[in-house]
Amino acid sequence: MSERLSGHTLLVSLIATPIRHSLSPKMHNEAYAKLGLDYAYLAFEVGNEELADAVQGIRALGIRGSNVSMPNKQAIIPYLDELSPAAELVGAVNTVVNKDGKGHLVGHCTDGTGAVRALAAEGVDVKDQVITLAGAGGAGTAIAIQLGLDGAKEVRIFNIKDKCYENAEQTVEKLNTRTQTKATLNDLEDTEAFYQSIAESSIFIDATGVGMKPLEGQKLINDPAVIRPDLVVFDVVYSPAETELLRFAKEHGAKKAINGIGMMIYQGAEAFKLHTGEDMPVDYIRELFFGDDAK
Ligand code: NAD
Repeated sequence: MSERLSGHTLLVSLIATPIRHSLSPKMHNEAYAKLGLDYAYLAFEVGNEELADAVQGIRALGIRGSNVSMPNKQAIIPYLDELSPAAELVGAVNTVVNKDGKGHLVGHCTDGTGAVRALAAEGVDVKDQVITLAGAGGAGTAIAIQLGLDGAKEVRIFNIKDKCYENAEQTVEKLNTRTQTKATLNDLEDTEAFYQSIAESSIFIDATGVGMKPLEGQKLINDPAVIRPDLVVFDVVYSPAETELLRFAKEHGAKKAINGIGMMIYQGAEAFKLHTGEDMPVDYIRELFFGDDAK
């Protein structure tokens, strides 16, 4: 890796806290090395308090771009010069591009495109589809908005009545007024309505994190009759690679049971493209990081 670095090396940052556990630096640096790109990717512990200075640092140092994670995904917006349509609608940014390295910072949100590309890679097209989506927190909102931008016929959001419910109401409003997609919101506790919605959908997306620690072993669907041979089940969780929901979906013959590894890789690949103009070698990265789990 150090052999690659030179006086011309372009830097991409990741600003968040806590961030040392993140897979992103290794993912991006491995991809730069594989393609022989003169880039380096480094993580910086940055919270809301340091954010303004960090963004100025990106401008001052000509850092090519950055990824952004919690707690900065929303807080960074006032410091940027421009937002992509998806970032503007989602109200969150996970990728910043320093246009031509000249200090004009554009915010993007690649979580939703990552999810849609992960589905497309499995042969699943969201256009004109009726889709039930559980959970409209950070990941769910990005996915809901992207489904709207990519022409889904209906997005039916189900959320428990927690702090995310109000955000889900706003997401539904945005989808109904700013895209061609019809959106609705219901209480996830209303199991009858939830199962009925899935019965009328071709794709079910779980963006709640149920099935991951500390809710490992739990799942939102408990009636085998809900799983049909023409239903695609997509769980955004990538660890474990097979959640209880995906195990149940496979056992009862769902058309596809897709985990969050593809979403994770493709959101990174979208950022990689924005920062370098090159396509991330996704198959190489998938194999390197996830091996058999990704299959
Ligand atoms: P968040 O806290 O912003 O949202 C959580 C959502 O789940 C909310 O809608 C909340 O109402 C709902 N929820 C919480 N507890 C619940 C419960 N017990 N039952 C039903 N619903 C419940 O979190 P987030 O950042 O959106 O992350 C959600 C999941 O998505 C996590 O598992 C995270 O790892 C995963 N994720 C995956 C990727 C990827 O690339 N694959 C990217 C981002 C997030």
